[in-house]
Amino acid sequence: MATIAFIGLGHMGLPMARNLVKAGHKVQGFDVRPPDVALDGALSLAASNRAALKGAETVITMLPAGPQVGEAFLADGILAHAQKGALLIDCSTIDVKTAREVAAEAQERGFLMVDAPVSGGVGGAEGASLTFMVGGEKAGFERAKPVLEAMGKKIVHTGASGNGQAAKICNNMILAISMIAVSEAFVLAEKLGLSHQTLFDVASTSSGQCWSLTSYCPVPGPVPASPANRDYKAGFTAAMMLKDLRLAQAAAGEAGVGTPLGAEAATLYALLASAGKGHLDFSSIIKLLRGDLNTSN
Ligand code: NAD
Repeated sequence: MATIAFIGLGHMGLPMARNLVKAGHKVQGFDVRPPDVALDGALSLAASNRAALKGAETVITMLPAGPQVGEAFLADGILAHAQKGALLIDCSTIDVKTAREVAAEAQERGFLMVDAPVSGGVGGAEGASLTFMVGGEKAGFERAKPVLEAMGKKIVHTGASGNGQAAKICNNMILAISMIAVSEAFVLAEKLGLSHQTLFDVASTSSGQCWSLTSYCPVPGPVPASPANRDYKAGFTAAMMLKDLRLAQAAAGEAGVGTPLGAEAATLYALLASAGKGHLDFSSIIKLLRGDLNTSN
């Protein structure tokens, strides 16, 4: 059993912290907006970032984006007050640049730090079945692995610092582009008089086959569990996808790499969000492509 500070108890952080408690750890949580729910025995709520760090061998952060991670770690934050030798794990999805800057500063001050963004969403956080993409030194990965195993099923070492974030945004860029491609095909099929099921039956066993089609189909019917069957209730929201696409575009700009389809995907998701649909599942991009954004959901 370890004492763990858990900073950021939002949609993802709270269930993750609870799973650490279930695994026998003592968890000292902190959030600038404390959760409005009763907390279980070994999960306590600290009055400040600094109080949560007291005696913690491991510090986990699950914050919205790069600016909050910078604020929590730098200046008078975690790097100034974490106990000597503590392992630092940032599970937030943030820009690669900030992840590398904060990790370099942590190293400078003698801490092992890894970036460990997740995929699997709130369901994965609740069910302790997240995938963690871990960037940082091997020694940091080895120390983080048993802690992360209490919250996830798959823990992958993706290489140097920031590579966890890199893996996450590259994967999500593929996902967004493939979802748009599949959605365009269904919209065209509708106009050509081809039924959803027929296109699905052909493409799912042909070269158009991909996860966006076979596991997360953007039209109702062929894949009963996909969000299209429940009015595009998220799932993974269009707003979250837009955030990740923007991170991918920022990283591509930094690296001087052209990602034209990634850029187009970011534009399309921005249009969907500005039409008031950011709360819907990201597969609702088909509504934008079909031109039926005027429905209430
Ligand atoms: P959230 O907004 O529900 O939770 C973030 C929490 O951090 C909030 O409760 C907020 O009050 C707190 N916070 C902000 N600044 C803080 C600070 N300086 N100190 C302490 N607490 C602070 O967000 P979430 O859905 O839990 O997502 C967290 C991260 O996980 C994001 O980076 C997101 O992109 C990523 N992520 C989310 C999902 C998902 O499905 N929700 C899936 C994969 C990855």
